[in-house]
Amino acid sequence: MSVGGMVLKSPLAGWSTPLEEVPDEAFAARMLGDGVAIDPTHDTLHAPCDAEVIAIAAAHHALTLRTPQGCEILLHVGLDTVALQGTGFEILTRLNTRVRAGDPLLRFDLDFLAQHARSLLTPVIVSLDSRFRIVRRALERQVQVGEFLLELEPTGAPATADAPAAAAPAQLARVAVTLAHGLHARPAARLAAALRNLNAQVRIAAHGREANALSTVALMGLGVSCGEEVEVRVSGTQAPAALEAVRAALTSESAAHAARSVPAPPVPVRTDLPAGVLGGVIASRGFAVGPIVQLRRVQAPTPEQGAGAEAETAALAGARDAVRERLARRAGAGDAVDAAREIARAHLELLDDPELLQAAQARIAQGKAAGFAWRQAIRAHTAVLGALEDARLRERVDDLLDLETQVLAALHPAEAPALPPLPAGAIIVARELLPSQLVALDGGQVGGICTAEGGATSHVAILASAMGIPALAALGAQVLGVPEGSCVVLDAEHGFLEQAPSAQRLAAARALVAQQRAAATAAQAAAQGECRTRDGTRIQVLANVGSVAEARAAVRNGAEGCGLLRTEFLFLDRQSAPTPAEQTHTYQQIADALGARPLTVRTLDAGGDKPIAYLKLPAEANPALGLRGVRTSLAYPQLLHDQLRAILAVAGPAQCRLLLPMITDVTEVAQVRSVLDAVQAEFPGRPAMSVGVMIETPASAVLAGELAQVADFLSIGTNDLTQYVLAMDRLHPQLAARLDALHPAVLALIARAAQAAHAHGRHAAVCGALASEPDAAPLLVGLGVDELSAVPGVIPQVKAQIARFTLAQCRALAQQALQLQGAPAVRKLLAAHAQGVL
Ligand code: PEP
Ligand code: MG
Repeated sequence: MSVGGMVLKSPLAGWSTPLEEVPDEAFAARMLGDGVAIDPTHDTLHAPCDAEVIAIAAAHHALTLRTPQGCEILLHVGLDTVALQGTGFEILTRLNTRVRAGDPLLRFDLDFLAQHARSLLTPVIVSLDSRFRIVRRALERQVQVGEFLLELEPTGAPATADAPAAAAPAQLARVAVTLAHGLHARPAARLAAALRNLNAQVRIAAHGREANALSTVALMGLGVSCGEEVEVRVSGTQAPAALEAVRAALTSESAAHAARSVPAPPVPVRTDLPAGVLGGVIASRGFAVGPIVQLRRVQAPTPEQGAGAEAETAALAGARDAVRERLARRAGAGDAVDAAREIARAHLELLDDPELLQAAQARIAQGKAAGFAWRQAIRAHTAVLGALEDARLRERVDDLLDLETQVLAALHPAEAPALPPLPAGAIIVARELLPSQLVALDGGQVGGICTAEGGATSHVAILASAMGIPALAALGAQVLGVPEGSCVVLDAEHGFLEQAPSAQRLAAARALVAQQRAAATAAQAAAQGECRTRDGTRIQVLANVGSVAEARAAVRNGAEGCGLLRTEFLFLDRQSAPTPAEQTHTYQQIADALGARPLTVRTLDAGGDKPIAYLKLPAEANPALGLRGVRTSLAYPQLLHDQLRAILAVAGPAQCRLLLPMITDVTEVAQVRSVLDAVQAEFPGRPAMSVGVMIETPASAVLAGELAQVADFLSIGTNDLTQYVLAMDRLHPQLAARLDALHPAVLALIARAAQAAHAHGRHAAVCGALASEPDAAPLLVGLGVDELSAVPGVIPQVKAQIARFTLAQCRALAQQALQLQGAPAVRKLLAAHAQGVL
């Protein structure tokens, strides 16, 4: 045995089996590490060496040990045994105790497991990041407890942030995951990014599997859904900060993301369709007519045998560099849609995922070619993700396959399939479309997208809708047989594809497309003009903005300024608050993009669904009802002081206005005003800033009259107002369809707030998501709202909708809506009104 090496003795009596024969991809593909599996003939698991027990699975079916040399060993009894929830297992040791080789650790009911577990095979795994490799193993033979099983030797790899913490004691914590869609790609990527610069090692365990928190892929592979608890083990000098980062990442979508990605409620595939019409899931709304272009994905050839580890390692690194450069360009492109930038960022994280790389590297070390190794590494992970129950996690398989294609194309550029030139209005058909393929297509030529597979929440769906391309997913394999070049009607408003429409139908559909296009062009052309109702009442239309790029898009789309700058994006996903200078720099860039238009800066709306790790906010049973919005700012006066100073320091023609979130009464406004007065004194000669109050709590809506006396304007946040009026969590997936701001109770409060504002000579704005629904704009005007702040892309339509009606018509519509029984009835009314049926 080499110096520093060690021997693991068999922890079980049974048949020693190669890992590749374990019918579970996570073990077979060595995603957790190398080892062997034992098919037990006895019922007690023993310590394979002297070690410390560092983790015991909640379901008592698995343990992790750490040897004095820092090598971590996972002992996992049976497969899918987590589902037994502890039945049939008896733990014979305790967490954090030192055990000697041969000590009994766990007893299990062999007969019960034989009947109820998928397999009794018990993997003994040397953790991937332990920096030990197996140099000899007892395989394909009967072993007894205490007999030789594995010989390990150190890899000699330098300690990295990924290495197990030999010195620092680990902190253990349990965290309930409250992300609406579980631990999916984006929060996993955000967590990895947040931890990268911390001196801490973090492992997260769930379902009997453990993942290095730096690995997005491994985290996704845990398959953690909303409401489940994970076990977090943190060590290192910055362990507390790391734990906070974990808590933040596992308990909240980023505010920007949560606000942007309100997923459309899933629309089931239609089954009531005549022959020749295919039903699909609406991935991006719209209507299109055009010729079919079948996009077949050609697998780039990937030879298996490499030209030596050194050459293949260099080739893989070179290809990844090329892909990284392209993705980084896309992630930072000022003119790209936000969704494209966000997806590029997620792909960048995956590209540098340590476990993917390790898996590819291990194959290269076995003599495989770079492309083959990369594909195999990706496929091992997609197999695990694809088997998960959570549809969103399964859809992330596309992202990995996308990355596989991109790296293979960079490795073999000559063989990468060229994209065909597209005819105008092409309806692209593919089994599944990858985000990079969609970005690479000539967007101006694409009329629509049809995929045989996929769903409404895939990255392609998000991209297509951000690019304004109608898309249907899950149309089934039949769509792949629609003849190339044939003209089809894609109705992604109602969820179907007409494969062979009659000449008459085609003509009618083309006329409808032309009409829609003309209306959109007219709206765009008129967007720079003032917004007025048909009889001349002036309505201001501003934009909600979260970045400099969005501020530019707002101006392009005719926004009269920014009605809501959510400043949280500056404060999230980092380890300390941005300095006043840093904040001013960003506010200034946005102000400059707006020219002389007003910029409404909302003070930090932290807490609730937007926790900020470094604020050390106390754990709350009901965060939405806790320390959030202005309450957080008042609880951290320095934070508020710094932010006000940063806003006041913005120079130039744009006028900054201040907006206060989550106000409940006038005392909070008075407190902020007194801090503002003190800061203002540091800027002699600077005109006073106007201060607005958000109406997003029932209390503020009821007290709008009092608030209008101490504020310069009111701005109604329909997202939170709806959540609090209806008592429905805004992130609750099952309540999403009912959480509708068109509920008559919410509308009544909007009317009340607008009336109160006018009574005191103030204007009333709406900056919640309802202001971004063009059909709802006349209703809001009728309720008394005189300013709307919408997402930049819809501003032309919002203005156009308002221009169609007189103030009297808007008021009549509002009166009708207030009499209805629920939001669905109001929606129906608005649709009829928009179509001119009323
Ligand atoms: C709102 O609540 O409507 C609002 C605009 O604020 P946010 O969505 O950022 O909470
Ligand atoms: Mg809000």
